[in-house]
Parts: sequence; C-alpha cells; structure tokens
Amino acid sequence: MNTRRSLLGFGAALLLLLPACTTLREPAPGETWRGVHLWLDRENSAQQLIRTLPALAQAGVNVVVIEVNYSYEFRNHPELRNRHYITRQTAHALAAAARHSDIWLIPEFNCLGHQSFGGRIEPLLRTHPEWSETPTTAMQETNFYSLNWCPLAPGLTETVCSLMDDLAEGFEAEAIHVGMDEVYYIGDDRCPRCRGKNPAALFTEQVQQLHSHIVTDKKWQMLMWADRVIGVKFQGWSKFDTLQNDLSAAADTIPRDIIQCDWHYEKKVDYPSIPYLAGKGFRVWPAGFLPLPAAQALSHCALTQRTNVIGYLATTWNETRITNAPAWPPIREILPQWKQQLEPTGKPWKCR
Ligand SMILES: [Zn+2]
Repeated sequence: MNTRRSLLGFGAALLLLLPACTTLREPAPGETWRGVHLWLDRENSAQQLIRTLPALAQAGVNVVVIEVNYSYEFRNHPELRNRHYITRQTAHALAAAARHSDIWLIPEFNCLGHQSFGGRIEPLLRTHPEWSETPTTAMQETNFYSLNWCPLAPGLTETVCSLMDDLAEGFEAEAIHVGMDEVYYIGDDRCPRCRGKNPAALFTEQVQQLHSHIVTDKKWQMLMWADRVIGVKFQGWSKFDTLQNDLSAAADTIPRDIIQCDWHYEKKVDYPSIPYLAGKGFRVWPAGFLPLPAAQALSHCALTQRTNVIGYLATTWNETRITNAPAWPPIREILPQWKQQLEPTGKPWKCR
C-alpha cells in the first residue's frame, strides 16, 4: 500500500514536472543571448531551418528570431495569411527541433511599420485599407517608405494580438518580437484619427497595448527594434525622418521590461545608444549585419558595456542562405566571442 502510495506520489510529481519541461525558457541569467535573425516566410525556409538548427547550435547560437509576419497558417484570421505561409504542423516541428538543439525560438511580427514592401501591401492593410495611417496615400508616391497601420484604428490591436496568439501557439513561443522599426508615418495629417496628436504619445500607447497583451496577460517576453526609441540622435537621420515624426520621447514612457534590439550597420568608434538604453533600465540586444568590420566594431563595443547588455544578434536579411548561415562570417566570427567572454561556467542552458 505504502509502495503504491509512493508510486502515486512519484507519478504526481512527474506530472507536475512534465508541463514545465515542454517548452524552453530564455537563456539563464548570466548567459549571453547569441542570436540569429532570419526571414522565414514559407514552408521551404522553415524546413531548411529545421535541418540547419543543429549546425547553428554547434556555431554557438542559442536564440533564433524568425521574422514570420503574415506568412503563417493563422486560424483566427485565415484571410490575413500571405500567399506563401508556414503551416501549423511545420511550426510545431520547428519548435521541437529548436528544443532539441537548445535554441530558443522567437517569432517576429512587424507592428505599426512595414505594412508594405515595395509595391506589395501586406494582408492586414490589403484587407482593411481603412486601418492605414495614410489612407489617401497611393503606393505610387515616390518619396514613400512603407505603409504604417493607424495606432487608433478600432479593432486593429485585438486582431493583431489574436495573430500573435496563433504564432505563439504554433511555434510554442514564450516571446514575441513586435518589430516597430522605421515607423515614419504616425500622427499623420492624412489620418482622421491621429491628426494633430503627439506621435511619441501614439507610439507609446501602441507599445503599451501590445505589452499589456504579451507581457501582462500572457507572461511572455516582448522584444522590439530600438531605432525609433533612440531616435535620430543615436540612429542618424534617414530621408524619411522629420522633426514631426521623432518618437524618441517614448524612451521614457514605454515599459522597461521590453528588450531593445539596438541595430547599427555602420562602422563607428562608439555606439552610445547601448549605454543610453541600458542606463534607462532596458535590457539591450545589440544587432549587427554587414559589412563584417562594422559588425565586429559593434560587438566589441557591446562587449565592453556589460551592464544590461544580454548578447549579440546577427541579422542576415537574406544575405546568406539559411543552410549556409552557420558558416556565414558575421555568425562564425562574432558569436563564439560572446560564448567565451561571458559564459565562465560553460554550462548550456536547459529546459526549466
Ligand atoms: Zn491614425
């Protein structure tokens, strides 16, 4: 009887442990985030990544950000799927493969900005053109970057959050990257809802709405690109920046538990936005690309700024095939430095 009871107790304890081990947690405190960012917009790419994950892990990678956007088999809103998309079945297979290689998988869904690429409008604004921040702007305007959605469009945030729920379920993710880079049209005169309102306040409100769902309700980690948060003082002027679309005041108003992915692709002697963001209490994930000397300069600078810097993220922007990524110089040359420099125990991080 006692044996049976103890066996029952053991079984119950096992059941308590099993759900906790079904998903990977973020890298443990003190362990660096050695990340790769990949566009993943179709089945074939996802299958390639499944096959490549062991080699990426071998190269020192422990986090992969996959920019999926609308290329997923959304169940809540099938009308918002791209023509090519990753099936739910493949998403689960990718999640299992990542778990097997001790890699944390983070889906990215671009919010606010990048609702069009070139002349192609993404499904959200194609389906709901009334949700555009610049509804009267035709794509033919030559000095136009990409469409933004309107942060005050009724019903939009609920729709987007349901898409994120689908992504998190499919990829078994406990973190979402919400993009929010290169947002140039916000508080725009062409929007009847936003005209005359403070752009940084609108941006903050959108961040807080997403944070409320992702972090407060779901208890997931939220990440975003940092370029609008640091502003032109640290990112430099682009031809789309104006005095009217500066959003940098949001650095003081958005939640501090959002990881700021601070991308810089030019070689500089210093990258002062890293201590700036870290000093505001954000965890900072510096992100480099090409050319290699610029990526090395950013990585070197970040390595000297230990406080609140969590690692290094190599963005790829289709400059390498997924299957070649483990040998791609910015990954092969830089990520191992982060393993040697900041991981004295050498312990791999595991399922909690
Ligand atoms: Zn608006």
